[in-house]
Amino acid sequence: MPNYIGRFAPSPTGPLHAGSLVAALASWLDARAHVGQWLVRIEDIDKPRCPAGMDQIILQQLAACGLYSDQVPVWQSARSERYQQALEQLLSQGLAYPCACSRQDVEATLSRLGQGRSRHAELVYPGTCRLSLAGRAPRSWRLQIQSQDVIKWSDRRCGPQQQDVQAEVGDFVLKRFDGSFTYQLAVVVDDAAQGITNVVRGEDLLDNTARQIVLQHALGLPTPRYLHTPLVLGANGEKLSKQNGAQPLGSGDPLAVLNSAAQVLGLPVLRGSVTQALVAWVEYWSRLYNPAL
Ligand code: GLU
Repeated sequence: MPNYIGRFAPSPTGPLHAGSLVAALASWLDARAHVGQWLVRIEDIDKPRCPAGMDQIILQQLAACGLYSDQVPVWQSARSERYQQALEQLLSQGLAYPCACSRQDVEATLSRLGQGRSRHAELVYPGTCRLSLAGRAPRSWRLQIQSQDVIKWSDRRCGPQQQDVQAEVGDFVLKRFDGSFTYQLAVVVDDAAQGITNVVRGEDLLDNTARQIVLQHALGLPTPRYLHTPLVLGANGEKLSKQNGAQPLGSGDPLAVLNSAAQVLGLPVLRGSVTQALVAWVEYWSRLYNPAL
């Protein structure tokens, strides 16, 4: 087993753009700086949001930038059985439970409790169905967060982090009404199944990490080390995304697109071939983001 396995895990909802390439390049550089493996995982569990063929476009874009997975990529859409097994493990341990509440039910209960509090428009679930569904049919399955789930962890770039998952997030959903599994469950199951030791991804996911650590503890899985990369912002000041006008990477000059991503990471602009630039950036990366950590 190599002692470093990293990954890039794009959701194929659109082609790679300047923002997603930053995470791809950073995760690749970190793996190479550790003389480790770099895997690509296609996170296509939310099938309706993933246009057919987009996965192949992303793999081609990565290849044009000299970024190749060290193993055959994994597709989450083929792994529902693994997610179901994890859910059943949690249910049998009393760590997850079916929930019959609709969004309206949750809103009504919270306002009755005088807690109309929301977090990124997500409502902190008040735990109505923890004990019983009261004869109602399940609509989702949630992880039961414990009061001791105040998670402290250290990000390799962003430093010490802390989140009271019960107060700030609540019992979050693992499986939805339509049978689909959530990102949180799938990412934790897959990171463990692939032996991922280091996660390098965009800073927009920084505040998902505590939830993933809680889930790792519940499933008895190891916690990888995390490094969250700076985001590229769109014209509206939000994270660059397809929704706010991110353009697909230009196909003509891979070194130019890599240079833009490298600059976001604090690496110098380099000339020469893509391969030469990648090799040189591994050196810079090693100095900037101490691989010993
Ligand atoms: N699939 C997620 C995304 O494209 C990334 C998940 C992760 O790196 O944990 O935003």
